[in-house]
Amino acid sequence: MNRLYRYLIILLIVIAALGCSPTATDHKQQLYVFGTLVSISAYSADKQAFEQAVDAVDASFQRMHRDWHSWKGEGALVQLNRAIAGGEMHKVDPFLLPLIEQAKLYSEQSLGLFNPAIGHLIALWGFHSDEPPSGEPPSREAISPHLQDAPAMADLLISGNSVSSRNPRVNIDLGAFAKGYALQLAIKQLASHGITNTIVNAGGDLCVAGKHGERPWRIGIRHPQGKGVIASMEAADGECMLTSGNYERYREYQQVRYAHIIDPRSGYPVEHIASATVVARNGALADAAATALSVAGPLQWLEISQNMGLQQVMLVDEKGRIYLTPKMRQRVVFQDKPDEIIMGQP
Ligand code: ADP
Ligand code: MG
Repeated sequence: MNRLYRYLIILLIVIAALGCSPTATDHKQQLYVFGTLVSISAYSADKQAFEQAVDAVDASFQRMHRDWHSWKGEGALVQLNRAIAGGEMHKVDPFLLPLIEQAKLYSEQSLGLFNPAIGHLIALWGFHSDEPPSGEPPSREAISPHLQDAPAMADLLISGNSVSSRNPRVNIDLGAFAKGYALQLAIKQLASHGITNTIVNAGGDLCVAGKHGERPWRIGIRHPQGKGVIASMEAADGECMLTSGNYERYREYQQVRYAHIIDPRSGYPVEHIASATVVARNGALADAAATALSVAGPLQWLEISQNMGLQQVMLVDEKGRIYLTPKMRQRVVFQDKPDEIIMGQP
């Protein structure tokens, strides 16, 4: 009898404890950074932890914006660019240095199609400005000096935490890469505050952690024309998805659109690709790769994917044709059945 009572009491305590434990719910906050809205969604039982985590991420984003910006303000990258243009050896802020090192590696793996050293060329096309550029595009004469002694990340010499350039034309622009790096850091920072089921989404570029309760998070791939998504898929813990596209920012002159992604070989904006999407566990790599694949286009996407170790890639070309790797094909669910799918194994 005595023992039965004891069991009953223990059972009641367990039921009471379960009843008191808060249940997880959805939380969402938006931050404005890098010229875009970043939304942080989480599935958590701890609202206060979520709010504190978002404040911490916001502070980090502001720092990234300052120190990773290539042409605005007086942050670490602006200082580095000024120093290397003057032929100096410059001690780089430890918050920036790993980006330079990784950007160098991915530039090499992409055979220079992702080339963050072409900041001057990007500026010439008018994309070192918060406003979209307008008017006549640069002339061939203005572009051609950028192709002679063409700047490359390989021109950078990194020794400890000091960086110099053997080519004064190098001007580092991390616009194709820093967002992916930032999203991944945000996921880490959220985890350090106990927020382990979350999505950090910057206009369709995103990283994911954990799940949404019992279900995986569902993510959408931006449609290269118009609004909305072209396809969706379930995301696994730790994955990032980055899309690079012609539709994002461009210059329009006499009904011709000039994309903000420049082919470093020609000095001209890419034409054949509407968007390139990469899913990988490394956000920085996925971002660099999405830009590289936009440049690579239908002729070179498999070669570049292989060099960069990518398995999950989707391209949409200017005619709406879809290029998919087998792994990506297995996962995506299209909103509307595509007219033409071209499969390719990197
Ligand atoms: P988004 O950030 O709009 O999603 P990307 O990741 O492709 O798109 O980044 C585009 C930006 O990268 C451009 O605005 C420019 O600053 C820079 N950029 C353009 N062409 C290249 C290139 N070939 N390699 C590296 N960076 C580039
Ligand atoms: Mg990119």
